[in-house]
Amino acid sequence: MSSMQCTLCLNAEANKKGSHIVSQFIVSKMLANKGKARYREIGSTISSRGFSEFTIGRDVTPEKILELFGREMDENDLRNNSNPYVADYFLCTACEDRLQRLEDIVASDFYNKLQNIPQVEKNENKFIRIGEELDSAIRLFFISILWRAAVTKFGDFELPSESKEKLRSLLDRVLSKESSDLKVNLMLNLKEIRSHRLMIMTENPTNGHADKTDNAVNFDPETTTPYFVSINEFVIGYYDNDSKFNRAINGYYGLESIVHRSFFKNEKYYGHILIVPDAKWLGWKGNMVKKFAQRYAQESCDNFKRLFIKVHGHEPSKQKIQEFFYDFVNGSEYTLDKYTLQNFAVYAHKHIIE
Ligand SMILES: [Zn+2]
Repeated sequence: MSSMQCTLCLNAEANKKGSHIVSQFIVSKMLANKGKARYREIGSTISSRGFSEFTIGRDVTPEKILELFGREMDENDLRNNSNPYVADYFLCTACEDRLQRLEDIVASDFYNKLQNIPQVEKNENKFIRIGEELDSAIRLFFISILWRAAVTKFGDFELPSESKEKLRSLLDRVLSKESSDLKVNLMLNLKEIRSHRLMIMTENPTNGHADKTDNAVNFDPETTTPYFVSINEFVIGYYDNDSKFNRAINGYYGLESIVHRSFFKNEKYYGHILIVPDAKWLGWKGNMVKKFAQRYAQESCDNFKRLFIKVHGHEPSKQKIQEFFYDFVNGSEYTLDKYTLQNFAVYAHKHIIE
């Protein structure tokens, strides 16, 4: 047990195990979209390094892979595979509860009815149009995810301490255990909530999220002007301070070309969530997935070689590596899910032992 202080109220003991970094209602939809039970606890989280427990990173030992050779993950493996979207002991029970009230509003009034919320066109862009109360709730909700990711260093994501403190203090003042109080606070603090330079983009909700690579979470620690974060069908841009605001917008797999500074601060865009045009959405997602797939692919080949040497005492031929790799990458439907340790073990077994 930890006796750390809760990072939100800075008061009670951080006694909560399994607090969500990315909210359960978003994660559960992501996981529900996957067919196989063994993916239930895995999910394809993309970070700058990947998660070694879930993807085949460089630090996975040949011994570990040998142990997994050719068997399906059982209940024990699933239990031991912690959920990447939760972290232990950074919140107290009361703060977890307060965050939950905010998530309830966002899930019921926004997320679960996305397809039915009116859309408007403005300067050749399409937006989802929401009222002040919901705007306040959704902004605070994404602020809370940015803050949670920063305090838990999710996917190596970080924010400067002053920025984290600004977000923490806002969350601490606005959140409440009672929904009715929270709603009052959201309106009372609307101006301050909107002063945080945030823009929210989404895939067109009416196209039914046909793209399988939607189900990915990316907190990119390398983009900081603004920070870009993608969570399934949402992409959030966030400037943590005004001095960054006049610098060039940094690249985010091509998506930056539709991002304008006015979206972050201009009053006429309050209550507007930008709908990313379909072609642009597929383009940027494809670029991102490709980058990570290339890295995972390289790591898979490196691991295959190490494992082969461990078993046979000499290096595999180029052709052997190619055969393994072709089989491995073509053996699974989803773009990034194939790069799990378990899946790797199955194909490595086939090409090293059988
Ligand atoms: Zn607390």
